[in-house]
Amino acid sequence: MGEPSLDDANVKVAVRVRPFNRREKELNTKCVVEMVKNQTILHPGGTNLGKADPRNQSKVFAYDHCFWSMDETEKEKYAGQEVVFQCLGESLLNNAFQGYNACIFAYGQTGSGKSYTMMGSVDQPGLIPRLCSALFDRTQKEQREQESFTVEVSYMEIYNEKVRDLLDPKGGRQTLRVREHKVLGPYVDGLSRLAVACYKDIESLMSEGNKSRTVAATNMNEESSRSHAVFNIILTHTLTDLKSGTSGEKVSRLSLVDLAGSERAAKTGAAGERLKEGSNINKSLTTLGLVISALAEQGTAKNKTKFVPYRDSVLTWLLKDCLGGNSRTAMVATVSPSADNYEETLSTLRYADRAK
Ligand code: ADP
Repeated sequence: MGEPSLDDANVKVAVRVRPFNRREKELNTKCVVEMVKNQTILHPGGTNLGKADPRNQSKVFAYDHCFWSMDETEKEKYAGQEVVFQCLGESLLNNAFQGYNACIFAYGQTGSGKSYTMMGSVDQPGLIPRLCSALFDRTQKEQREQESFTVEVSYMEIYNEKVRDLLDPKGGRQTLRVREHKVLGPYVDGLSRLAVACYKDIESLMSEGNKSRTVAATNMNEESSRSHAVFNIILTHTLTDLKSGTSGEKVSRLSLVDLAGSERAAKTGAAGERLKEGSNINKSLTTLGLVISALAEQGTAKNKTKFVPYRDSVLTWLLKDCLGGNSRTAMVATVSPSADNYEETLSTLRYADRAK
């Protein structure tokens, strides 16, 4: 693993296309997504579009990474979970060990592969389990008499600008207050922060947390795809001077965010070109897009003083310390390959395009 270079872009944007699902296969739908190196091309999807319809032209977008996971037999092209981790996760982990914060988002319509990318399955673990196990491997390797590490986690859900603790040991479902500390910045008052000693601990906490999300999903199906799940890993690195007995700490935070399904935001015109119009339905997604693109603009030195509207949504406000500054941000925009999702895919590709 190489050390991250300081000129490494602060914001990295990737697009990942999932394989056809059973329904799409049965309907024999057309694949409208093509990937060539770091380009994603969206081909016309409709069959009865007029000649003048702009959807008749292929649209080309370039990103930092394009992950093709349509067909495992395409060895050259296929990007499985390990490849995604190597491209996005490893450098963020290096940063965390240097004391910097980082954030990974999965953005896309419901069913496009956000959870698969972030969590994955037992056989195909995604970014979160891979990051966690690599983190523990490394803390064990680097643990010395004068150097120690502690790892804590928190897990919350943001729905309709309200925060709930997914790891509340008492199973409380009340809304928590977002406050601001003079020095430490924004935080969630009363959010559980649990110490973990190994990956197994995290795994069981996450599955508890996810159950708490699933309960909500069966009662209010709408809400679960409309909520953001934010998993935080807090790494504290303590260095002790053995002679004097004094010690210092470096704290870094990794935030891994499975965003709400983007479909509603898109339909209210909150994605792509009309991102600025804002949306009452999901302020967080809209604001996140604006924050990331403002940061990307700052990063290119085009506009160092560009205003970043962190305060405009709970999600961006709480993630302020993981976005911007020396922090690293990665966004994976997940899309379906299928023609009948053309509009959603186009809007996701535009959202990701703005974030660069
Ligand atoms: P979302 O979280 O965006 O709603 P999911 O992650 O649940 O979507 O994905 C929907 C389905 O597609 C799941 O069954 C998942 O296993 C499958 N899937 C998604 N992305 C991939 C991928 N890259 N490779 C293989 N299967 C995928």
